[in-house]
Amino acid sequence: IIIGDHIVKSFGVKDEQRNVLDGVSVEINEGEFVAIMGPSGSGKSTLMFALSGMDSVNNGRVIFDGMDLTEVGEKELSEIRRIKMGFIFQQPTMLKYLNILDNIVLPTMRNNRKNAPKIAEKARRLMRRVGIGDLEKRDITQVSGGQLQRAGICRALMNNPKIIFGDEPTGALNSKSSEEIMDIFSEINMDGTALMLVTHDAKVAARSDRIMFMHDGKIVSELKLEKFNGKDIEDRINEVTVKMK
Ligand code: ATP
Ligand code: MG
Repeated sequence: IIIGDHIVKSFGVKDEQRNVLDGVSVEINEGEFVAIMGPSGSGKSTLMFALSGMDSVNNGRVIFDGMDLTEVGEKELSEIRRIKMGFIFQQPTMLKYLNILDNIVLPTMRNNRKNAPKIAEKARRLMRRVGIGDLEKRDITQVSGGQLQRAGICRALMNNPKIIFGDEPTGALNSKSSEEIMDIFSEINMDGTALMLVTHDAKVAARSDRIMFMHDGKIVSELKLEKFNGKDIEDRINEVTVKMK
């Protein structure tokens, strides 16, 4: 679903330009679950921004669902993002003066007011599915971190995206909430949605099909995980991580 072809992204001014992505090539297949690991500053978030068209690249190409994102205009790009991609961050950005349900439907409603009842019904269904069915009227400021993240997931799923990009989606959660959120992600993936999750957590990465390890703006190692078998995989991930330091 995504092909990144020798992507270069640099920051800084003329003489002090630094390649934060140093010719990265990646391919993510339809329905695949890819985890990105690597030390802080290695370029994980930058790669995610580049592959999702959230940020431009200095060189190389990004093909998403057959379209070259480096060639489409900003307006078309934001349409593609809105309709085909979902985004989850460490903590979802929600509007404080709206309740949970309204926050979830807001981005979808904005372009589609006449379908309001259908949209709300879909949101309720998603909320039930992720275990926050009883919280629709709840103030956004009165929920736990795990509940807030579930709401973020519902919001990301409203348009049936082809892929969900997550940057440390469990980074702010305790291990129990993290497991529960990952159960939801695994289910979403089982339904056919591709996932690209940046994570520091070997437990999270262990659920993926493939882990890419980044270092200094390059993908330096890849680990294919045929199927999840807990502890072994976590040990192998930790081995690779230690070797890279
Ligand atoms: P972390 O695990 O800490 O989130 P990361 O792997 O996601 O790290 P990135 O956020 O991709 O790292 O950043 C990679 C490098 O690019 C860092 O050295 C960072 O300082 C630099 N960088 C990122 N965004 C910018 C920017 N807008 N301007 C200048 N430098 C930037
Ligand atoms: Mg980051």
